[in-house]
Amino acid sequence: MSREELEELAWRWRELARSLANSAGEDSSTSSRPPSSDDPYRRGERGKPAAADRDGGAAPSAAPPENAGERCEKKTAKPAGKKPGAKGFWRSQPIVVSAEIPHAPIVCAACQGALGPNLERRCVGAHNSLELARGEMALQVTATKHVYFAVRCPCGHRSIARPGVGSRSDIEGRRRNLQMSECCLVGPMLATFIAALSLRFRLSRRKIQEFLGDWLSLELGVATIERCIHEFGLASEPVVEQLIQEVRAADIVHLDETPWYQRGVLRWMWVATTAMTTIFRIASRRKEELTALIGDAFLGWLVTDGYVAYRDHPRRQRCLAHLIRKGLALAQGWYGAGSGFGRELVRDLRRLIERVHDGEGGETSAVKRLMARIEWNCQCNRHEVEKKVRDLAGEILNDWEAVVAFVAAPNLPPTNNEAERALRHAVIARRISFGTRTDEGSRFYAAGLSVIATCRQRGIETWAYACGLIAAARANLPLPAIPTKALA
Ligand SMILES: [Zn+2]
Repeated sequence: MSREELEELAWRWRELARSLANSAGEDSSTSSRPPSSDDPYRRGERGKPAAADRDGGAAPSAAPPENAGERCEKKTAKPAGKKPGAKGFWRSQPIVVSAEIPHAPIVCAACQGALGPNLERRCVGAHNSLELARGEMALQVTATKHVYFAVRCPCGHRSIARPGVGSRSDIEGRRRNLQMSECCLVGPMLATFIAALSLRFRLSRRKIQEFLGDWLSLELGVATIERCIHEFGLASEPVVEQLIQEVRAADIVHLDETPWYQRGVLRWMWVATTAMTTIFRIASRRKEELTALIGDAFLGWLVTDGYVAYRDHPRRQRCLAHLIRKGLALAQGWYGAGSGFGRELVRDLRRLIERVHDGEGGETSAVKRLMARIEWNCQCNRHEVEKKVRDLAGEILNDWEAVVAFVAAPNLPPTNNEAERALRHAVIARRISFGTRTDEGSRFYAAGLSVIATCRQRGIETWAYACGLIAAARANLPLPAIPTKALA
């Protein structure tokens, strides 16, 4: 090669390297990429890391890195909601009541005698309630007036009927805590409908308000809508406790986790799914959170990806889809001999899955040969110069038992698709809403999703169940459990 050619080549490579390095440093604030594509670990420093690094101390106007957190705090320091003293909003049209339901005590609280309708009664309270009626191909909202009476018994005692009051969720410093009560403007089915629009159909509070106004002529405040969504979460929590026990007793549990944001802070959403149950949990990524899900005495099989928190469990299947994807990256990239290793790994892993699936499982000689070849190939590439190749070979060898566990255990799925599918819904919700805002909100969101996912898995009419759940929680009655099998 002549000197000119060499210079030309060196120049072209320099340009190529420069453009690649530049586009690798871009994020949503410096390109047209969506914010959801940003690195979850570097959200705080979005937009300035590359610039700050390159300029070093040369630019005195550049903000020091600790300001990133400060700016975030400033943005979030203002509490949500109306400021004290701000002008309120009122209903522009009165509620037209179509029926009146009297509530009178039927038994005397003192002498247990029956209280007939002929006794003297006095109205002690009333409230309106909007309820959604689900008919054949119809939705209708009706307003009912609930009237409560006090009745004087012949024994002299005055018994009073009162709306039921259920559990509550308190947060220190909050002016108005969440209290489940039958004395509520929104009836159980309408509250369920609102929770469904939010949790299942991923509508924001504002969009739900708009939808109810446009399509049902319902005027509800954002706070009322928020309250309905939270009521479903609060009512779901005890049910989820029960579901956690069922997961702990299962034979096979799929586990996965995905980034989640709570007020812009990185958290993790965990999912544990079995054949009949799915539970979600928003927490840190530490190992203790895993223990909170499956307990520390779990005896069944775990199907997981390669995350270290799972490594200690003795009965575990490593998700092969992840390994196949990594092998494909090697096969399609420029890794010299490593590309060949990637291609063979992908081919052999796929073949192993097929063979075991076709009933050639157990320890037939063909399967044994295949396993020996994968292991041998990994050993040959364990000390490869390319880091990615070396890492993948080491990863498989270090976790060999978990990679091939499904060969000996016939019911064990070789991939973690179940858990990843269970997380899909929440991942899309995160991209729309940027996560939750409070600890309470995260807890309720995870509990609500768990109940919805489990009902759908078990073939139960989700919203009828949810309505019964909210009604029971408001009246402080025992909460219905999710039936294990749909009644045909
Ligand atoms: Zn009495």
